[in-house]
Amino acid sequence: MRVLLVEDDDGVADALVEALGANGHEPKRVARGADALTAHRDFDLLLLDLGLPDTDGLEVLRKIRRMADVPIVVLTARGDERTIVRGLRLGADDYLVKPVRLAELLARMDAVARRSAAHGAPADRVVRCGDVEIDLDARRVLVAGAEVALTTKEFEVLAVLASRPGTAVSRQQLMDEVWGDAYLAVSRTLDVHLTQLRAKLDRPGVLTTIRGFGYRLSTDA
Ligand code: CA
Repeated sequence: MRVLLVEDDDGVADALVEALGANGHEPKRVARGADALTAHRDFDLLLLDLGLPDTDGLEVLRKIRRMADVPIVVLTARGDERTIVRGLRLGADDYLVKPVRLAELLARMDAVARRSAAHGAPADRVVRCGDVEIDLDARRVLVAGAEVALTTKEFEVLAVLASRPGTAVSRQQLMDEVWGDAYLAVSRTLDVHLTQLRAKLDRPGVLTTIRGFGYRLSTDA
């Protein structure tokens, strides 16, 4: 895909442009936030560094989001959760903390592009995983035809995963979408909800743990 890399560090930018090109993408690099604001229209995906010389990357993100829904993956040296949460809230589709591992970057870019393509089509609001049926509009879950009683939060956790089946969703994303600001306090709570969900669904293959990252709903379970 056509990738716009917004990165002021020449070393990082050169390495990424070369690696993306070698992996079948068409990368173009700009070094300033102002350039990103004018150039973004011609690209399928943006890789956006947050520490830019002329303006804060989060500000660039906010401005582009007002104009376009092009997929944006944030690259940040800041691993702190507040910055990441702000980035996701402002409309970043995903983020990676630098130094970026190439294989992971390519995988995340593909996942984000897939998700964004799926958003363009009318969404299938009933997700089926074997005999588990998740109706996102009716907020109902059937297992082997029988309705399973879920709490509001359990359903919301499941719904976030079911809205992008087959895609790994990070713990941060899950907590941010279900709990918003309060999420710093709920890491353990998420574990409890997932344990409960697994017990209630009683289908071990449906909810997969991605070690050190998050979770995925498997539709081919
Ligand atoms: Ca930078």
